[in-house]
Amino acid sequence: MKYTRLIGTKDILPGETFPWVALQNILRDVSARFGYHEIITPLIETTNLFIHSVGDVTDIVSKEMYSFKDKSERDITLKPEGTSSVVRAYLENHLTDLSKPVKLYYIDRFFRYEKPQKGRYREFYQYGAECFGSDSPAVDAEVIQLAFHLLLSMGMKDLILQLNSIGCPSCRPRYREQLVAFLKLHENELCSECKLRAATNPLRVLDCKKESCQAVLAGVPITTNHLCRDCAQHFNTLQELLTALGLPFQCNSRLVRGFDYYNRTVFEISSIFLGSQSALLGGGRYDDLVEMLGGSPTPAVGFAMGLERAMMIIQESNSMAFVEPSTTLWIANFGGITLTESLSIANQIRQAGIRVEVDLEGKGIKKSLESALKRGIPYLLIIGEDELKNRLFTLKDLQKKDQQSLTLQEIIGTIQNSQMNSL
Ligand code: AMP
Repeated sequence: MKYTRLIGTKDILPGETFPWVALQNILRDVSARFGYHEIITPLIETTNLFIHSVGDVTDIVSKEMYSFKDKSERDITLKPEGTSSVVRAYLENHLTDLSKPVKLYYIDRFFRYEKPQKGRYREFYQYGAECFGSDSPAVDAEVIQLAFHLLLSMGMKDLILQLNSIGCPSCRPRYREQLVAFLKLHENELCSECKLRAATNPLRVLDCKKESCQAVLAGVPITTNHLCRDCAQHFNTLQELLTALGLPFQCNSRLVRGFDYYNRTVFEISSIFLGSQSALLGGGRYDDLVEMLGGSPTPAVGFAMGLERAMMIIQESNSMAFVEPSTTLWIANFGGITLTESLSIANQIRQAGIRVEVDLEGKGIKKSLESALKRGIPYLLIIGEDELKNRLFTLKDLQKKDQQSLTLQEIIGTIQNSQMNSL
């Protein structure tokens, strides 16, 4: 093979695209039911946007971005995540003037230079929802409700929602101090990466999956024990709302997310079909990000879901069946005028909503029969010179193995009737 796709990327092939689009249709439909509007932002942004919003000591910014200089020496990055771009677009296009809350969603592709493995790619798709303009815990609850509604619409069951509050700029520094002091005491027991994180981004140590760190973390100070009154109340109300909505959750005081912009609520939903260490979606509140990127203070909350992982769960749990409609009628002809007429007749039949393909090489009945049978096409129409003279065409039903001589209108009627009966 002279050229192969880059490691961590994939081709979505015919047969796979139908479920892919069907999944996106569900996402669009459910989002609209919650009053969300789609936003499409460019695939590339200035590198500084992500350094500033996601944070320069995060794994995404420090290790995983596809960044390059363009021909004008600008620093450009292929989007590694969606929230930063949506906030940038929200400010740049004055969506701030819209009546609040402003509810936006996106379906987009993202790029991270990660180690490819099952459910982890270097180019991947995410659905994301972002709600701007309210700090009410009801928004957090509704965003989580939206996430569940999306997943249940895909037929998913056995979902696990984990929830935490990581406080705000007024209470987090105190917690951070205690955490750093605790990590210092246990420095020698931490993995090499966490030794570094303890100094640069100590909260990230909390979700290290290495066994040695997990053992240390058994005694770690807990975020929710150090919340200020407002954050504690916000978190309690959110839990009450989720309980009232019948959305089951587990509080996980070690849940933190890989972005610096989160405050208060953070959450993840995982599925038993993904394995314990990978989430299907994750999100939280980011009340300071809009201001950090130059806007006026605007509380916000959102989440992102990996579409490859969603598709993996659908396939492994058989939660949805996708049946791609295939061609119903194949037209056999003998070249020349019979091919020209076949092309024209095919279009008349297509106008009745029927899927039609023509033998474009005009190779006659035997070859067409082979093609139709190979593709599982139920009807074969024969257009020869005699048929054109009489305007009566032979329609073969390849399943029933019979044939009739019919006018064009009768052919359309016969196929439509059989399609209605098979519904
Ligand atoms: P994040 O943007 O890191 O909060 O991730 C949100 C969701 O996107 C995850 O729960 C995954 O489902 C998905 N995701 C993140 N990174 C990748 C990746 N490299 N490959 C595939 N899916 C990913």
